[in-house]
Amino acid sequence: MKQIVIATPKVVTFQEVPTPKVKPGEVLVETLVTGVCGSDVHAAQGLHPFVPLPYKPGHEAVGIIREIAPDVKGFAVGDRVTAEPDLPCWDCKNCNNGNENLCENLRFFGCGYEQGGMADFWTLPTNRLHKVPESFTDEQASLIEPLSTPVHATKLSFIGSKDLTGKTVAILGCGTIGLLTLIAAKHFNAKKIVMTDLLDTKRERALKLGADAVVNAGSATAVEEVRKECGGSVDVVFDCVAFQPTILQAIKMADKGGIVVVVGVPEKEVTIPLPVIQDHQIRIQGSATYLPSDYEDSIKIIGSAGFDASNFVTAIYPVEEAQKAFDAAIAGEQVKVLIRFS
Ligand SMILES: [Zn+2]
Ligand SMILES: [Zn+2]
Repeated sequence: MKQIVIATPKVVTFQEVPTPKVKPGEVLVETLVTGVCGSDVHAAQGLHPFVPLPYKPGHEAVGIIREIAPDVKGFAVGDRVTAEPDLPCWDCKNCNNGNENLCENLRFFGCGYEQGGMADFWTLPTNRLHKVPESFTDEQASLIEPLSTPVHATKLSFIGSKDLTGKTVAILGCGTIGLLTLIAAKHFNAKKIVMTDLLDTKRERALKLGADAVVNAGSATAVEEVRKECGGSVDVVFDCVAFQPTILQAIKMADKGGIVVVVGVPEKEVTIPLPVIQDHQIRIQGSATYLPSDYEDSIKIIGSAGFDASNFVTAIYPVEEAQKAFDAAIAGEQVKVLIRFS
């Protein structure tokens, strides 16, 4: 079978490898579509802090079960599934507490693992798979994993409340994760959502998808404009860019008493004003991937009447043109790029 491998920054290669064999508890899945994630964009350029080259990409994978191990229950050949790609040990303190996304021995399908979802076939244990509702298109299915990340981040910001009712929200970055965070924050009833980006086209897209207001992130008065829209300090700021300028803006927006959730994958360390964070009771909250319950919320949101996958899946390339798919994702003009395998 074919397996995409990236060994040199930005260069997609195909390797012929044996089709993986199912182990107990596992199924063999034939890929339909796999999304190119922001983390793939980082990793494929050799910029991901935790994924060295060469790597076998693809964790936003949707496919059809073609073979099951004899002991598998609850899944059948022919089921369409999507992967929950973190591979916990199920044995450490965090796994035992139901926080397997924080497993102390975590491996990750498609990120530095021996298999990735940009291959004709892959195997995973069934507890890492979610069935795709029959009514979903493959495009809708491909968004379950990406939306689960902002769903998880949004739930971490509730802190004592059942959702975001009554809360003001700022989202820094109108890329894929920023726009999906908008969808999650709206689903969880945020009172007002203001988004920032450097690019007009991206801010326009955010407005079209339901942001209450947008602000040019490059403006010298961006922080004041966002605070004005929110009537003072912002309750929850999602930093979907996560580099030095945005984290400083986020902290100023949340000042005083707000929460800054770091959703984007930072390329490197940043400096933060610790005296302000202490004295103004600001909370900095990291957010790492998701849990099965986040997938359930994500499936609910994508299946709801108002959700239009074509707003997010803006380019699909056949597997033969996987290089073009990566080039397009790296260029950053698309929201979500998919590669179709079959
Ligand atoms: Zn992803
Ligand atoms: Zn563990």
